Amino acid sequence: MDLLDQFRAHVDTSGGPDACHPWTGPVRNAKSYGKFRVDGRDHLAHRWLLGYLRGKPLQYPLELGCHTCDNPPCCNLRHLYVGTVRDNVADAIARSGHPAARRSWPHCTKGHKYVPENTFISAGRRYCRTCHRERARINARAARVRKRAGPDREADVAAVKALRGSGGAVRNPE
Ligand SMILES: [Zn+2]
Ligand SMILES: [Zn+2]
Repeated sequence: MDLLDQFRAHVDTSGGPDACHPWTGPVRNAKSYGKFRVDGRDHLAHRWLLGYLRGKPLQYPLELGCHTCDNPPCCNLRHLYVGTVRDNVADAIARSGHPAARRSWPHCTKGHKYVPENTFISAGRRYCRTCHRERARINARAARVRKRAGPDREADVAAVKALRGSGGAVRNPE
């Protein structure tokens, strides 16, 4: 049985080609979006269907699986289309720091590309080597400043704060 057949086994098409085709398998959340498991990963059923049929998964968070029928469990292709989030909205989502959005970023919060040479994985999280080096440098400087007394100290404390940015500690695990 191919994937599409497995998918269709969870869809109720008894209403005919123009009716809603509700998902009858497991659901994802309170809104009753269908949940379809492929190779150990869960997908929102209607999104998976749209992606599978066009040959390319929907891009998160830019592309939305939209219903013309406003019926979340519906998996009738006639009621589904791929919507595109307006760029500025997508940006807002990507910038929101939502972990799922950040994991799909091609770069760290500072804009360094996650190319293999610049990436390391620790405890399942992705880190930027450039930022890691920068953090080590700033932390070393902060340690030196902490030890020092005298009139230069205040200015150095302020400089270290500025380097760290408004958030205090510099972190960007994803
Ligand atoms: Zn529908
Ligand atoms: Zn970085």
